Amino acid sequence: MNVREMLEEREKQVLSPFAAKSALSKGRVRPLTPCDLRTDFQRDRDRILHSKSFRRLQFKTQVFLSPEGDHYRTRLTHTLEVSQIARTISRALSLNEDLTESISLAHDLGHTPFGHIGERTLNRLTADGFRHNEQSLRVVEKLEGTEGLNLTWEVRDGIFNHPGGNEPSTLEAQVVSRADRIAYINHDIDDALRAGILKPFELPEPCLHVLGRTHGERISTMIRDIVTASDNHREIRASQEVQAATDALRAFLFERVYQDKWREAEEQKCDFVLSQLFAHFMAHPGDMPLEYVTESYREGTERSVVDYLASMTDRFAMRLFNKLFVPETFAVI
Ligand code: MG
Repeated sequence: MNVREMLEEREKQVLSPFAAKSALSKGRVRPLTPCDLRTDFQRDRDRILHSKSFRRLQFKTQVFLSPEGDHYRTRLTHTLEVSQIARTISRALSLNEDLTESISLAHDLGHTPFGHIGERTLNRLTADGFRHNEQSLRVVEKLEGTEGLNLTWEVRDGIFNHPGGNEPSTLEAQVVSRADRIAYINHDIDDALRAGILKPFELPEPCLHVLGRTHGERISTMIRDIVTASDNHREIRASQEVQAATDALRAFLFERVYQDKWREAEEQKCDFVLSQLFAHFMAHPGDMPLEYVTESYREGTERSVVDYLASMTDRFAMRLFNKLFVPETFAVI
């Protein structure tokens, strides 16, 4: 028996009857010779971690656009927080922690530059619309490397179905969806406080009463509540009280941070940058790197322009905008 077979055997013995077992995976589009050291879900995690799209997350916006401060979240640190929260819940419920980790690390790979502003811009500009979860799936199925990462069905299902309102097929994917929400609600409050957009006394008192007064307390309450409410159930859930307080806090964030006037001017600039880049590459698709030009032969110019734009980091999009549309300064000493 090799190490992988031993790990698969252990999953059957130790994990919950509701957990996804790597040996029972629905598999990959292109079958691979099994690894002797890692289960299929562990192998997926490594494929994601070593991808170019994963490294680009470090220069993509979470909420604060290309933040000057070193302490604000980026799409990468958000992803790592989601992964840690999801793994804690998964382990506590005897679910498959490896599957949870793989879905978490890949869930936002399709995010555009400038966060949800970029997502809205691409959605507005394209005939078929644009949603980051669909793009994340496209990244792992087609765009990364020459023919995608060839991940297992369970990981791909979790990536596509991570936004609220979707219905993923595994409990592990449901955990990621919850962990995503726990992570962003809490770290966006933390970043908004750091930026002075919110003052501590402005946070809604009834929410703090239920969830806790500090960042750490609130995360802990949400995690523990899910673990208690979901134990031995076929779905991941929260208690009514904590769910209501979390929803209220999220609504407060939408009103005060995500949709507030302070963002409007900056949002318009991001929208303008992406719109100009979109128009430029639609008119000159040959200016894109070869991989996107080749892809365009199969699915059309608009699709390849969207893939190229969505792949960009904030700083790359801004540099490219400057290069294409802003005259270079000529310094005479
Ligand atoms: Mg996310």
